[in-house]
Amino acid sequence: MLKLATAGLLLSTLCSLAQEVPLRLAARALGATPLESDLRELCDGIGGRPTGSPASERAINWAAQKFREAGADTVRTESVDLPYLWLPVSAEASATAPERFSVRIAASPFTESTQGPIEAELVDAGKGTAVDFEKLGARAKGAIILVRSDEMKTLDDLFAEYLRNIPLYESARKAQVAAVLLESTRPRGLLYRHPFGMTSNVPMPAAIVSREHAERLLRLASQATVRLRLNIRNRTGGRFQSRNVIADIRGREKPEEIVLIGAHLDSWDLGTGSEDNGVNAVMVIDALRGFAAAHARPRRTVRFVLFTGEEYGMFGSEGYVNSHHAELDDHVAAVVFDSGSGRLSGFFLNGRDELRKPVNDALSVLAGFNANQHLPDGIDGTDNFDFALSGVPNLVGNQDPAPYLPDYHAESDTFERSNIREEKITEAVASTLLWSFAENPDRPALRQNRQQVEKLLKDTKLDEQMKALGQWEDFVNGKRGVSK
Ligand SMILES: [Zn+2]
Repeated sequence: MLKLATAGLLLSTLCSLAQEVPLRLAARALGATPLESDLRELCDGIGGRPTGSPASERAINWAAQKFREAGADTVRTESVDLPYLWLPVSAEASATAPERFSVRIAASPFTESTQGPIEAELVDAGKGTAVDFEKLGARAKGAIILVRSDEMKTLDDLFAEYLRNIPLYESARKAQVAAVLLESTRPRGLLYRHPFGMTSNVPMPAAIVSREHAERLLRLASQATVRLRLNIRNRTGGRFQSRNVIADIRGREKPEEIVLIGAHLDSWDLGTGSEDNGVNAVMVIDALRGFAAAHARPRRTVRFVLFTGEEYGMFGSEGYVNSHHAELDDHVAAVVFDSGSGRLSGFFLNGRDELRKPVNDALSVLAGFNANQHLPDGIDGTDNFDFALSGVPNLVGNQDPAPYLPDYHAESDTFERSNIREEKITEAVASTLLWSFAENPDRPALRQNRQQVEKLLKDTKLDEQMKALGQWEDFVNGKRGVSK
């Protein structure tokens, strides 16, 4: 009996030791930390930071300095190639007939300038479907077309907005329109940056137009000829470089093995990029601060990465995966956060159901937070994606769409939107997970080979999404993804 009791005592002592570090990390994250003041500095001090802008350079230097001050073992920036530069300069529109009034617009990323003011008839292009263009016929040529949109209420609506644009762009190009205006999917004058082409520069001016202004223009156009003046200036250029910011807490036994946490630092410019994705970027910085403060040095290296170029098309994480190609076998897991500060209910497993158990085991010490509602879905559209294509076990935080979604890429994505209280919980969960993945002798899951990744893409239907978004070719021809 005594022997059993001693064994029990020993076991519980060992358990509490194993749990002590993650609990300390979590408790610190939930207490007073610089998370909120960092977010304020980033959003109010630096502001919106499209990749290639002076603000994005400031943000990169700021983040590297924050990592240094936080006590990282190493901090560096790594260059990333982006294929083209697109920065907004100015965008003006006004109706000139039958009534004169100004119209609020925001240029769509990667679209062309008007090369000075243009004036043309505004034509109602319905929902912009192939049938709508057929009905328009020759009227579309040389016209500014206005495409109607439904209000965006869910993430699925948002995704549909992206998918709509690919065939729409093709129809508009064939019809030789002068420019495309897309009705804002969000009422009360809200404007946002919405890419009109997904994979390359779009040789056509395009912009989002305020929902109320669009409705007025459409009503007028049903009764009279409406003419619109448009002047859009964007700064564009060829290939350029930006940088990822990378900080390590070096592993004590297997420093070459890496557990990575990532969030993108770049943002669009109308707002100040708090929900997308400043709040998660400062969470990553503070998580490192927690490891350093607790002298938490797990078996493996924990790598904290702030990616650049995500809004341009995930170029920062793609660049990271390419330049660390030879070390991917040593990447034990990649955990990405990119949905604002909504309540974290669990993780997207990205088709890797075997991650469910290790994640839940890791989070068992934080059972009260209920971050265990994991979804099997594969996520395409943020920085986990190239890790997934390369077979590296990867997770994306499943954060409640509020407050992220209504302010997505919009003027209203500002500091005060973010829910600091929920984000602190996200940091507690993330830190606990990182500790466990970096400390446990066993890896949470193994790297997949080409065949396994191909099956995963099929099973999760990611292959269909990749085809729709123009990413499939790069995977098939070996430009992206694990080769064998
Ligand atoms: Zn984002």
